[in-house]
Amino acid sequence: MGSPDTARPRGSLWARLVDAFHGRDTAAPAPPAVPPAVPFNSLEWRVDPDTETWWHLPPPSPAGMQEVQVCAPDGYDFARLVWKVCEPCRLGLVLKIRVTEPWQRHGYGSRMVRFALRGRDGYAWTTTPQSDDGRAFFPAIAATAGVDLPPGRHVCEHMEARGLKLPGPARPLDPPPQ
Ligand SMILES: [Zn+2]
Repeated sequence: MGSPDTARPRGSLWARLVDAFHGRDTAAPAPPAVPPAVPFNSLEWRVDPDTETWWHLPPPSPAGMQEVQVCAPDGYDFARLVWKVCEPCRLGLVLKIRVTEPWQRHGYGSRMVRFALRGRDGYAWTTTPQSDDGRAFFPAIAATAGVDLPPGRHVCEHMEARGLKLPGPARPLDPPPQ
């Protein structure tokens, strides 16, 4: 256990930059910090709400990119949501959503989406078409979060402004309710 700052995985920004350079979202899981006898995907070890940490990377400008990450004790961001909203235009856009396999079907996707939806009643949401593995579970997440998340990438000039490719530095986030 450490302070949120020391618990913050080192290299996460670098991994994101590398992924961005390669046009992918494939941050490899860090090696498991457990004895080899414990299966890597052991649910008992991997899915532990008491040790996970939630992070919000706020937008650099009102309509800029923002992100939520949920990290395991080893720093791996096993759940990630990237989105933009524009208040004047009442638009929301989900750019990326990912929950890595052992953590899937535990509600992380819905909780991240609900966090993004907070205070955004009446906004029209769309998703980018290349939401890769997120696309498979968008319908279920949208249903539990109570929002329509159709593809179509409906954006405004504010969300398209240049120079806003990356969200700001991560801040600890109180885990959204189940
Ligand atoms: Zn706008």
